[in-house]
Amino acid sequence: MKIAILGNGQLAQMLIESVSDLALEIDAYPLPEIDANGQSTAAEISLWQQRLKDYDVVTYEIENISVELLQTVNEETRIFPAIDGLKVAQDRLLEKTTFKQLEIETNTFLAVNSWADLREAAVSLGYPFIVKTRRFGYDGKGQYIVKAPESLSKAWDLLGQYLLIAESFVAFDYEVSQVASADQFGNIAFYPLVRNEHREGILRETHVLHEEDELTFSARESVRRLMMHFDYVGTFAVEFFVKGNVPYANEMAPRVHNSGHWSIDGASVSQFRNHMLAISGARVVEPHANARHMMMINLIGENVPAVELPENVFVKSYGKELRPGRKMGHVNIVDNELETFVESINIIYQNLKAKPCLEEF
Ligand code: AMP
Repeated sequence: MKIAILGNGQLAQMLIESVSDLALEIDAYPLPEIDANGQSTAAEISLWQQRLKDYDVVTYEIENISVELLQTVNEETRIFPAIDGLKVAQDRLLEKTTFKQLEIETNTFLAVNSWADLREAAVSLGYPFIVKTRRFGYDGKGQYIVKAPESLSKAWDLLGQYLLIAESFVAFDYEVSQVASADQFGNIAFYPLVRNEHREGILRETHVLHEEDELTFSARESVRRLMMHFDYVGTFAVEFFVKGNVPYANEMAPRVHNSGHWSIDGASVSQFRNHMLAISGARVVEPHANARHMMMINLIGENVPAVELPENVFVKSYGKELRPGRKMGHVNIVDNELETFVESINIIYQNLKAKPCLEEF
């Protein structure tokens, strides 16, 4: 079977590595070009249609691909995950509207297309509230917290040229994400719920939560509804704010997700392998946790520590040139004993010259 991956970054790299034992022929391509509105030219579309027509399946590692391009490619080649899901994930307003339609708890939101809309949003949401660009926001970019009436015009100056969404500010206790993979037979394999800690808008740590409590149950129910709604095939992730044990859906990702990287070393089957199994027509495998304590630390603008590391530590370098703020690799720590688990976390952070996000594990 021949599979093409659109996007050739670390996610594509890890997708390919996850199935090196299977007879799949996989090529990863740089992303097709898009303009500021997310569109590709007719010439670009026809180029990719030509290039991809001999593949059995096309998948993607990132959301910034023209929907029109994929629809054209889809006339000859199957595309997983479904384009409908991608279209929704590209637009925060469509995303939140879909959550609401499916009765998935989310925060209050409004479309903002004018200065008058923004002023009305301030009245209806109260301060503080958040303004975000509907498209192309990631890692906290393209958003502004409006803390008081004086900063309304600043928000408009910064973002008024884009289509916007205004949403209520959630004073959440913490953030979680639920990763799951669905196959073409309707099976869904859920990974454990994970807690995510961000620094400067970028994911820094993911902690695997083992308890299957009410929070996990509601997060999974939301993910299940979305996956069924989109007839989803592949790995999928939804990020939630947690407040008082209720998960409020914030964002969905129709792809393998950074908060699932721990599964390479921490689960019997990784999110990458399950994605590839699903899109190639095999069944997804129920993941089992390899240890009691597991976490992932993202290496952001930092090199992989050049010291000898304990055997419960697994380092992955993406082989990229060092740049500030760039995801360079990640470290997974997987251990049954809390004491040695914490020791390893401290060793990593001593080498990064930074502090762990959490004080207790
Ligand atoms: P996003 O791009 O929507 O994932 O937002 C990036 C980060 O900003 C989130 O992980 C939150 O930490 C924070 N954030 C975004 N939206 C809200 C909100 N409505 N209330 C509080 N914090 C938010």
